[in-house]
Amino acid sequence: MSPDKNTKEMICIVCPVGCHLQVTTDGEEVKVTGNRCSRGEEYAREEMLSPKRVVTATCRLEDPQHPRLPVKTDAPLPFEQIEELLAEVYSLSVKPPVKVGQVLIEDFAATGVNLVSSRTIQTQ
Ligand code: SF4
Repeated sequence: MSPDKNTKEMICIVCPVGCHLQVTTDGEEVKVTGNRCSRGEEYAREEMLSPKRVVTATCRLEDPQHPRLPVKTDAPLPFEQIEELLAEVYSLSVKPPVKVGQVLIEDFAATGVNLVSSRTIQTQ
């Protein structure tokens, strides 16, 4: 086994079957076994080479009855950019009315990912 060869086990979360995957990386080469379909291989490769997550958080809402607004990204964001996004979210202040799905931060850091509201809040 070469020094950068590494085997990891993970569960594919793409569909409810939840295949147990064995993923071996050797430099840039990724070998996946245990997947019942090609989507599992794609999932494992992305997890090993450039993991991404949908981010959920809350930001300030200028409404005394609902001081926090739940927000989320509309697509998965690369791990290394999550901290930077959260810093923006925590300094964000939204004035109602706001609708579910309304874009609050557009195309964050040129990733094509938007931050959207997870709730509708009407004005008083
Ligand atoms: S490998 Fe395919 S069948 Fe297995 S959990 Fe992933 S998507 Fe579902």
